Amino acid sequence: MSLNKNKTVKIIVPCYNEGGNIDAFFKAVCEVTSAQSGYDFGYIFVDDGSTDNTLDEIKKLAEKDKTVNYISFSRNFGKESAMYAGLKASRDARSDYAIIMDADLQHPPALIDEMIKVIEETGCDSCAARRVSRKGEPRIRSILARAFYKIMNRFSDIEVIDGAVDFRMLSGKMVKAIVDMPETQRFSKGIFAWVGFHTEWIEFENVERIEGESKWSMWGLTKYAIAGFLDFAASPLKAVGVFGSLTSLGALIYLVIEILKTMIVGKDVPGYASIISLILFFGGLITAVLSVMGEYIGRMYMETKGRPIFIEKESNLDEQN
Ligand code: UDP
Ligand code: MG
Repeated sequence: MSLNKNKTVKIIVPCYNEGGNIDAFFKAVCEVTSAQSGYDFGYIFVDDGSTDNTLDEIKKLAEKDKTVNYISFSRNFGKESAMYAGLKASRDARSDYAIIMDADLQHPPALIDEMIKVIEETGCDSCAARRVSRKGEPRIRSILARAFYKIMNRFSDIEVIDGAVDFRMLSGKMVKAIVDMPETQRFSKGIFAWVGFHTEWIEFENVERIEGESKWSMWGLTKYAIAGFLDFAASPLKAVGVFGSLTSLGALIYLVIEILKTMIVGKDVPGYASIISLILFFGGLITAVLSVMGEYIGRMYMETKGRPIFIEKESNLDEQN
């Protein structure tokens, strides 16, 4: 093996209940990879605690094909954890490149050719895919996604490209940088941008999944978006600070006016309404500030526990390396 000069590429596939897709996915990708020369492809299927026959299907492939590796989680940890586990395995194997792609063929295998070409031609560290249409997706999901990218790019420390999907080819160096980021609550779209490196983008039209349904509920996506934003933005903390200072200033001006009024025209009829509305206003403001702070403190609390990003139940990686 070590005699040939081929570059090694690990294809990382997070799978959660994709039993019906594994075979078709593997066939489609093999068609592309077998036509490539100069690269040795290997597969890292990450079974994210599937409850269907996903792991059996992967094991069947692994028996037939020595380039197929797998890691199976003890439960469902989420796609972020699955991607991390795959990247870590690619790093441990010292692969030259890693490619992350979904198991449902929504990421067209033909783009692998293009990614390799772009990386060879430009010498970039990463080539990532970006959807230019959201065809076949519920309208409300597209609208919310657009809004998310706008807010993210306006208020966070990083720039996230609209339509970017988790389908990308990364150099070993970039994989190492990502794996070395120890945070347990991960938002890869942000992490890819944060680590830097030269990234080139290629565009593709949205493709619908071949079998089964998206694992993302509207609520799940919303929580993911908020968590991702908070991971890379301290601006809400600053915003509530500014808001708090402005209202205090307003209250101070109001106080001065009241004092002057009392001095010039004498005591006013006592007004409950203004007092109550001020109490309510500040009560609300303090609660809002505390809840924003609480959100960050909660994330710090989870992070300080230092829990593992995933727990492996079984794998065939140890046998081969
Ligand atoms: N996935 C995963 N763990 C999860 C949810 C999803 O590994 O908890 C995988 C899933 O099997 C698929 C990819 O992540 O390969 C994308 O998931 P999905 O197609 O449901 O998301 P969408 O394409 O709708 O964004
Ligand atoms: Mg999908």
